[in-house]
Amino acid sequence: MKAFEKNIRKVEPYVPGEQPQERVIKLNTNENPYPPAPGVTKALEEMDAGNLRLYPDPTAEVLVNALADFYHVNPDQVFVGVGSDDVLSMCFLTFFNSEKPIYFPDVTYSFYKVWADLYRIPYECQALDENFRIVKEDYYPENGGVIFPNPNAPTGIYLELDQVEDIIAHNQDVIVIVDEAYVDFAGRSAMELIDRYDNLIVVQTFSKARSMAGMRVGYAISNPALIKYLNDAKYSFNSYTMNQTSLVCGARAVEDRVYFEEGIRKIIETREWAKKELADLGFEFTDSKANFIFAKHPKYEAKDLFEFLKTQKIYVRFWGSRRIEQYLRITVGTREEMEALFAAVRKYIEEQS
Ligand code: PMP
Repeated sequence: MKAFEKNIRKVEPYVPGEQPQERVIKLNTNENPYPPAPGVTKALEEMDAGNLRLYPDPTAEVLVNALADFYHVNPDQVFVGVGSDDVLSMCFLTFFNSEKPIYFPDVTYSFYKVWADLYRIPYECQALDENFRIVKEDYYPENGGVIFPNPNAPTGIYLELDQVEDIIAHNQDVIVIVDEAYVDFAGRSAMELIDRYDNLIVVQTFSKARSMAGMRVGYAISNPALIKYLNDAKYSFNSYTMNQTSLVCGARAVEDRVYFEEGIRKIIETREWAKKELADLGFEFTDSKANFIFAKHPKYEAKDLFEFLKTQKIYVRFWGSRRIEQYLRITVGTREEMEALFAAVRKYIEEQS
């Protein structure tokens, strides 16, 4: 072993879902099947490449202001980053510096563990109950901070706001981050609690309901004091996280509320119809309120079905990790994509019998 090896920060990286470069039905990374708002296309068409010689606005003002308007908060309550992964990573770095472990669920977004390891943050996972629900009392003991997604991923289960508030209220000495990547498909956001709790940060993304995963835009909404701490960390890391294109396109997307709401309506409608189809095919699943369904089939191995679907050029997500070995996570695509999925599943079932 080389002497320098011992001084290298070694991490076990997060494994993102596959991004196949051939044409497939892609139901594996919770992207939105519909295009972004028409204003985004227009902004891209009107963009002047000549402006790229300039650095982007480090304050990201145009995007921050658009989000502040949309959520009726002040611009100093908004922090933006390169996808919510960037925002969450900054939050871990900035707010989780206790010797006590941070808490998050055992079955959840697997990136939390990776950031905790990367930043040397001690953590403890709190087990979801047998129905994959967060048990709020598990978050009462003293800890170094709390983070959970709502709806949780990959279960899709939405925790009612009074229970979210209960967790925040029991943890007022630490920062509580509610990762709301999928909340637009679900229910009330914890954003309505930010004036009441100075320890709360709500993180959201443009990758799901706003159909802009490829643009990489995420944001946090909180009180001005915590947002300032986040910006201080950002300026100590990379002042120009947001590129010009993302700033302009992000702002255009936020301005189109009608398109946003219509897109969400379509996904929810397809999700609820897909649940009925899956039930008819014998699947069991949680009552997901996100843009994906977390399902298992009592007769078939998840891994085998996952592999078969791949041969049919249909990609879903499979982890094979503890407690969820038999589950597949299926992103809600268009109705046509879902029909192709169900046809493939039917073919699999026929081949097995
Ligand atoms: N949080 C959760 C719970 C997620 O599932 C994802 C998507 N992988 C993210 C955050 C990050 O999404 P993005 O970086 O695209 O905003």
